[in-house]
Amino acid sequence: MSTTERYDVTVIGAGVSGLLSALALGKEGKKVLVIERADYIGGTCRTYEHQGYKVDTGPHIITRLDSGPLRVLMDKYFDVIPYFVPFGKYYLRINRQVKQFPWSVKDWMMFELLPVEDRSMLVKIIFDVAYMASTGVDMSRVSIADITPRSLSPTSLAFIDYLSYFMLGTGPVNAPVSRFLDRKSYKVEKPKDDNGLTIPYVGKAYNMLVGGRPTDQFYPRGGVQTIIDALSYSLPENVKINLGEELLKVNTEQGGNISPVVSSVTTSKGTYETDLVIYSGYATDLPQLIDTPLPNYYVNNLQKIEKVNSLSVWVGLDEPIFKDEGSEMWVSTSSDTLHTWMIPTSNYDPSLAPKGKHLVGFAFIVPPDMPHEKAEESARHTIFSNIPALERHMNMIHYQHLVPEKATWSIHAGFGDIKTPVKNLYCVGSDSFKRSMGLTRASYSVHKMLDTLGIEGNLE
Ligand SMILES: Cc1cc2nc3c(=O)[nH]c(=O)nc-3n(C[C@H](O)[C@H](O)[C@H](O)COP(=O)(O)OP(=O)(O)OC[C@H]3O[C@@H](n4cnc5c(N)ncnc54)[C@H](O)[C@@H]3O)c2cc1C
Repeated sequence: MSTTERYDVTVIGAGVSGLLSALALGKEGKKVLVIERADYIGGTCRTYEHQGYKVDTGPHIITRLDSGPLRVLMDKYFDVIPYFVPFGKYYLRINRQVKQFPWSVKDWMMFELLPVEDRSMLVKIIFDVAYMASTGVDMSRVSIADITPRSLSPTSLAFIDYLSYFMLGTGPVNAPVSRFLDRKSYKVEKPKDDNGLTIPYVGKAYNMLVGGRPTDQFYPRGGVQTIIDALSYSLPENVKINLGEELLKVNTEQGGNISPVVSSVTTSKGTYETDLVIYSGYATDLPQLIDTPLPNYYVNNLQKIEKVNSLSVWVGLDEPIFKDEGSEMWVSTSSDTLHTWMIPTSNYDPSLAPKGKHLVGFAFIVPPDMPHEKAEESARHTIFSNIPALERHMNMIHYQHLVPEKATWSIHAGFGDIKTPVKNLYCVGSDSFKRSMGLTRASYSVHKMLDTLGIEGNLE
């Protein structure tokens, strides 16, 4: 490779965040180079074949597809849009009983899987949270554990534990209540009172009070790969992707009297001059990837980031054990099983399984220090002790150890940012913008990055 190749933007990583960034900037007229160390695009958003089944990199649903950040990006930049199938209902499985998730106070009061006295306490918590938020309390510093009555039964505590891990990737002690107050739609105007002052928004808590299950959640027919395929099909000619090439250094020069400025990147295959770098790898790796020391406050914060570790188990079945439309949240109430979320993926798209067969995915969040074999054994025990028929009808089992979120949304852990101390170096991805989760969070980060480039005059 010649060392004189020059790009307006170099994007590091061809996962969904990197590709969305490359697509948007390419369509805004920039000459873009994408560097990806793997031999494929998609990162943790892919679908591949295993023993005749098409498995995603973890069971997925895509949230906020009515007017959320991915929808806005798709409408603006995609040339083709994947076909999305409505995701359906959520069920809770607790102590081998299954019931629909309670989406309103009325449903809560009838929710027999938790003791009756706990149900009224939990409804009171929802009212308390709505009240605290409306009086302006900073709910990002209040944890789920802070508002949980100690007198709840072990089953109800397990349920709260489940919600914390699956909404934030961390337990109730670290989980901020604010996550449950997140606004529903993208760029929604905050409500104002008669004097024009913003009324604190109580989104999800409000939904819990008045009812209504989410109707903006979907599964992409063909698997999550179809999102990546649509992205890649839409890339203009001025976007080039180099696979099997790793970023080694972002090179800087001194910018006036303040911060260093991006000048080029060195990869495993050469050096490219570039005006901007959009980085979508782990923010925690950044200090080693920049040729100049970064300020202590920045590095210390990055060191406090905690990633989420997951195990996905895909099970192929010769009987359709799960016939209901929707997914099941399995709350573990015993020490030898784990919480899990089960999606019968082939109910949304039968072509993901061989003819007459069925594909079910389980997502587990596992402690970082749990060895893979131990996690797989606990996962199998959880699955087959809950539904022994699954083992009898199983013809395929496949494990994936992946990182669904590069940063937990936690009161005490660190979290990255779009901006960095290096001028013209920006981050995107699930550790750079604290809102929502998964692809929705990744898409929010790309919006925020584009807004920031605009404000800093880097989109002209
Ligand atoms: C089990 C599981 C379940 C999930 N469920 C959902 C769900 O239901 N809904 C949802 O919306 N999301 C879900 N997700 C999350 C979603 O898949 C991820 O948030 C998203 O794919 C992350 O995309 P990304 O581009 O930010 O990161 P990544 O996919 O990690 O992409 C980063 C890319 O950068 C590359 N890279 C890193 N460092 C370098 C370097 N130095 N040089 C070159 N390349 C580099 C990597 O190889 C990678 O390809 C789930 C994920 C998992 C694992």
